[in-house]
Amino acid sequence: MNTARRKTVIIGAGLGGLAAALRLASEGWEVVVCEQAGSPGGKMNRLESHGFRFDTGPSLITMPWVFEELFQAAGDRLEEHLEFQQVFPLAEYFFDDGERFTHSPILFDWLNTVRRLEGGSADGFLEFMRLGARLYEVSRETFFKRVPFERPDTSALRVLRHMPLRHGFANYHRVVRRYFRDPHLIQMFDRYMTYVGSSPWQTPSTLSVIPFIEYAYGGRHVRGGLYRLIEVLVELIQRKGGLVRVCSRVERIRLQNERVAGVELSNGEFLPAEVVIMNGDASVTPRLLGHPWTPLPESERSLSGLVFLLGLRRILEGRPHHSVFFSADYPREFDELFQQRRFPDDPTVYVNMPSRTDRSMTPGAGEVMFVMANAPANDHDAWDEAMVASARKRVFQRLEKSGFPAFEQDIVFSSVWTPRQMAEVYDMPGGSIYGTNSHGWKHAFLRPPNRNRRIPGLYHVGGSTHPGGGTPTVLMSAAITCRLIKQYDWN
Ligand SMILES: Cc1cc2nc3c(=O)[nH]c(=O)nc-3n(C[C@H](O)[C@H](O)[C@H](O)COP(=O)(O)OP(=O)(O)OC[C@H]3O[C@@H](n4cnc5c(N)ncnc54)[C@H](O)[C@@H]3O)c2cc1C
Repeated sequence: MNTARRKTVIIGAGLGGLAAALRLASEGWEVVVCEQAGSPGGKMNRLESHGFRFDTGPSLITMPWVFEELFQAAGDRLEEHLEFQQVFPLAEYFFDDGERFTHSPILFDWLNTVRRLEGGSADGFLEFMRLGARLYEVSRETFFKRVPFERPDTSALRVLRHMPLRHGFANYHRVVRRYFRDPHLIQMFDRYMTYVGSSPWQTPSTLSVIPFIEYAYGGRHVRGGLYRLIEVLVELIQRKGGLVRVCSRVERIRLQNERVAGVELSNGEFLPAEVVIMNGDASVTPRLLGHPWTPLPESERSLSGLVFLLGLRRILEGRPHHSVFFSADYPREFDELFQQRRFPDDPTVYVNMPSRTDRSMTPGAGEVMFVMANAPANDHDAWDEAMVASARKRVFQRLEKSGFPAFEQDIVFSSVWTPRQMAEVYDMPGGSIYGTNSHGWKHAFLRPPNRNRRIPGLYHVGGSTHPGGGTPTVLMSAAITCRLIKQYDWN
């Protein structure tokens, strides 16, 4: 066996594509990553202007050990390249009726907040966390490490016995209601399903593992911005002899004798490969194979987002790093997003100000502000000037109504990212951020597979495949995909 001659082409330099590239390059594979955009990173990208540095995608790192494992697999140490900073407090929540509270990582403080809201008892919260912990234990050896159709080994079977089946497939919102009485806590916990671009009324309650992970392990910022992770991955891949090519769009995956033979770029160049890994949206793969193709139906897509990147000249002393300004009527907001498929009249607004933790993100006195509201991933929405202006008005009204200090006069830089731009730049149907939504257990757990069982040598990696979207799960998908490559395509 001579692994040095094994060639892989990875379509897309998103986080999952780069993680897979680093793992394979570290094992001696010849790796070429082809990215259609002008910079690597995919949704985890960066915009720099007027001295402000914006992360245009993810804003919080959870499960830091998953990131450390990637560096270890490459024979390296994360802390030699990146500084993870604990975000403290984790977030502040603002409600339409004037209620507000802080998510403090100090358990004592947080339990006091829950007791105040729940009329003296924090038992519901602790029970909810216990459910999340049990689900996490089960997921750790099963869902997070293997693909659903693989035969489980004995260690996986052992943990599966502990699956809390009573809650396993119930509706997430209903389970939240079982543990909490306070409407603010219910709304706050419901929001966690937007981490996978889905509705709490339609996701299975097994996803209660998501809030558990945040409460148990906290959240982190990367000094210099989350995009530092992408920069470091590219550097390490190149150090190991891999190539990351930008402005290189793959038009076709070519087959020979019914197995993968390589890819063809839009300039006509052919790159031969024994293994091709698709990091773009998995629903687009049939198009690259030249098969009849229809985009992922809108009803199956996860949410997109409308993002404003704002550079302020003023320091907003006392504001938190992360804050959420909830809409007055959450069921209505999700009805607008998923049933009516339109931008909500009163959107819940998330504000990320990394400059509160990390002053290197600003040119000096000022703040970096990432403002986001969920939006449907539609094909027909024009997101032209008029549509953006109308949505912006609703977003800013929500901030004003929730008591956010007036800041518009302090904006010195402003940029907008619409679902349409996301769709075009990253080739994601309607700008859907997490691929298929997690509605119903089938969508949540049976995502497009990491290994194509019909075409030898063809794999998927990233948020649209198993185990799903979000930065730690994308890294897990890279570990799973590379393990499958070892199993099926090493010799
Ligand atoms: C606004 C926003 C906020 C987010 N917030 C969070 C958060 O707080 N926490 C979190 O964990 N996650 C968050 N995410 C999600 C997270 O960014 C993604 O889950 C993750 O980065 C996706 O990585 P990926 O490997 O799936 O690749 P992607 O980022 O989807 O990249 C795929 C790449 O493939 C390229 N590509 C596609 N087709 C081709 C082709 N034919 N040829 C060449 N290249 C191609 C695309 O251009 C793209 O660069 C957020 C995302 C966005 C957009």
